[in-house]
Amino acid sequence: MPIYLDHAATTPPRPEVVEAMVSVMSEAWGNPSSTHAFGRRARAALDEARESVARDLRVDPREVVFTSGGSEAINLAIKGAAWAGKARGHHLVTTAVEHEAVLHAFGYLEKFGFEVTVLPVDRYGRVDPEALSAALTERTVLVSLQYVNNEVGTVQPLADLVRHARTQRHVLVHVDAVQAAPWMDLDVPALDVDLLSIAGHKLEGPRGAGALYVRRGTALLAQQHGGSQERHRRAGTEDVAGATGLARALRLARRERPAVPDRVAGLRDRLRDAVLAVPGVELTGHPQHRAPGHLSVIVRDVDGQSLVVALDLEGIACSSGSACAAGSTEPSHVLTAMGYPAEEARGALRLTLGRTTTEADIDLACRIVPATIERVRAGAVALAARDP
Ligand SMILES: *Cc1c(COP(=O)(O)O)cnc(C)c1O
Repeated sequence: MPIYLDHAATTPPRPEVVEAMVSVMSEAWGNPSSTHAFGRRARAALDEARESVARDLRVDPREVVFTSGGSEAINLAIKGAAWAGKARGHHLVTTAVEHEAVLHAFGYLEKFGFEVTVLPVDRYGRVDPEALSAALTERTVLVSLQYVNNEVGTVQPLADLVRHARTQRHVLVHVDAVQAAPWMDLDVPALDVDLLSIAGHKLEGPRGAGALYVRRGTALLAQQHGGSQERHRRAGTEDVAGATGLARALRLARRERPAVPDRVAGLRDRLRDAVLAVPGVELTGHPQHRAPGHLSVIVRDVDGQSLVVALDLEGIACSSGSACAAGSTEPSHVLTAMGYPAEEARGALRLTLGRTTTEADIDLACRIVPATIERVRAGAVALAARDP
């Protein structure tokens, strides 16, 4: 079996998650809106999932909206809050290193007359809290921030950023916590945010299941219309199995902290040292403020995509930027925002570990990754030398 080092793209679902989902699908398959026994059984399972997620986020169950994943939660948060707040203003703020779901939701809103300020980041991908408060105006409706970056693993100074956003009382704060959820405690009242998105499949739960926290009293316009499910905030018959899987994954991740993140960070550090020992390899993202499982580098004189292909042949599954941007020839918007020229950004390599990564996996990766980098680079340099 190949070694899986692409946990930022998705994670293998836990056996307990699969088991809980199979049980719901075979025994609680009713429509939760039906009033008969089958419906009540499904409703009970859905309520249980919602209460579990709410407990882990320290919020009220009525503040949890289940969605079809991270992207939908993000779209609902951003578009829902922007449209609901339009009478108050049309100014929105985000950052240059957001996931495509965030950036494209704002791109869509721009077509309808919203103005979007995109905050720059430093060399490590961090946003300056002073720049955030300076960007706010009387007409700012929403600020959307990322907690942990999917491409370079950088953790934003979130508490500081939120405090600066709060200098304007009327501004709503949304946090894309999709990459943070596997590793960090999401104590929503302490984070003091209004909206927060998570996705099941990034934390060993199911793909196609996400959740949006909506602070009580936050005006939000539904983006999917139909029935009155999810308190009129998200129409459609609920995916009870998905919600159950997400809830189980979140609970287990929380229960295992800080032991699992600490152990994974130790393995990551070993791999980091082995990879950075190769000449012409540079760490991207923040050296300390980064997700425990995340290693991202730039390899000089090499195309990251060729490295990914070569590593795949050697039995190591990893990626060159984000999974969503794979196949695109454009340089990563994240690395570009961090100040890397397109030429350097081409050499991006991302190795992301997870809970199930073993010592033996990393022993092997510590040998294979540096050797493969050297070999692919030697080939690329020889090829370049042959060109006139
Ligand atoms: C994966 C990811 C998303 C999108 O979540 P999906 O469930 O795949 O739609 C959003 N934000 C970040 C930071 C992510 O890593």
